[in-house]
Amino acid sequence: MGEPVAARAPEPRAGVRRMKEYHPPVAGRDGLRLDFNENTLACSPRVLEVLQKITAADLTRYPERGTVEAIVADALGVAPVEVLLTNGVDEAIHALCQAFLDRGDAMLLPVPTYSMYEVYSSAAEAQIDAVPAVRGFRFPLDAMLRAIHARTRLIAIANPNSPTGATVARDAIVKVAERAPQAVVLLDEAYYHFFGETVLDLIGKVPNLVVARTFSKAYGMAGLRLGVLVAAEETMQWLRRVISPYSVNQLALACLPAALQDHAYLDWYVAEVKSARAELAQTLTEFGLEHWPSEANFILTRIGSEHRAFVQAMRSHGVLTRDRSADPGCDGLVRITVGTREQMQQAKAAIERSLKEIGWRA
Ligand code: PMP
Repeated sequence: MGEPVAARAPEPRAGVRRMKEYHPPVAGRDGLRLDFNENTLACSPRVLEVLQKITAADLTRYPERGTVEAIVADALGVAPVEVLLTNGVDEAIHALCQAFLDRGDAMLLPVPTYSMYEVYSSAAEAQIDAVPAVRGFRFPLDAMLRAIHARTRLIAIANPNSPTGATVARDAIVKVAERAPQAVVLLDEAYYHFFGETVLDLIGKVPNLVVARTFSKAYGMAGLRLGVLVAAEETMQWLRRVISPYSVNQLALACLPAALQDHAYLDWYVAEVKSARAELAQTLTEFGLEHWPSEANFILTRIGSEHRAFVQAMRSHGVLTRDRSADPGCDGLVRITVGTREQMQQAKAAIERSLKEIGWRA
């Protein structure tokens, strides 16, 4: 046998060549993590107890999600056939794009918003119809309605939105869904617990509505990768075709019932974040920093031209924050995750020092 002759590895399909690689900066995150909107403290201790009891035999089996989906359905007050567990909401978004977007179809988004919608829709070779938020990052209802066309097949609305923390009124959601019966309307309620309003009760009543929830934020289980999609049974049958049967792993499935049962822990963490969020808003106001009302576990604030230096200075003081300057309409803006009140005291000291160091003046 001679030397292989191929000069280069095969090319992927054109749509993949056009994609940008998305690398969230998750490496080397030492310090107080106020950069990714995770729970900044811990999951429920009951989840850790379950993990400690996992046996070798548990790991030898392929994961079986049906029984856990029934438990989740019960907790959410929907039917088991309307529930699909996913490897985080990210996998749910991917599955929706695969099932509903063909080349030449459009995904409609208010922007700025969560970046993975665009990543997965570009993999499906769909076009993005991006509608800029109204002044103050409010939901652009009229422009969204006007942007709907025959090939609009998927509409993604994060409520509360990221990176802004802004919310959408229920009647606006219904108007969008009614105007686009040919499209699936994803209501991404990743930050639901910090807000408290949902459209979950409209599943089955508004036929094209799909709701996503995650265990990565309030529940503190981002590392286990657990998301939930709720949709009418007719929609679910297509999603179950495209999703991998074992994408939610055995450890995540084992932990989920314990996480759902521990209402006390969840309620405590959410109440803590809400108090800390009010305190952070107050701190930002004291420092003369513009910021926007948020119903999520983060606040977006305007640092201005020194945004990069600010994020660096914060890091040098042991606090990670996220520069959102590259998002549409977000030049000079930085997002700060809200943790516990004690953690936000640490953040406050770091903000004060960092602002001094970048020579910021109100
Ligand atoms: N949706 C939104 C709006 C988010 O901000 C995030 C987290 N970055 C996700 C979904 C992804 O959540 P998960 O960890 O469940 O994939």
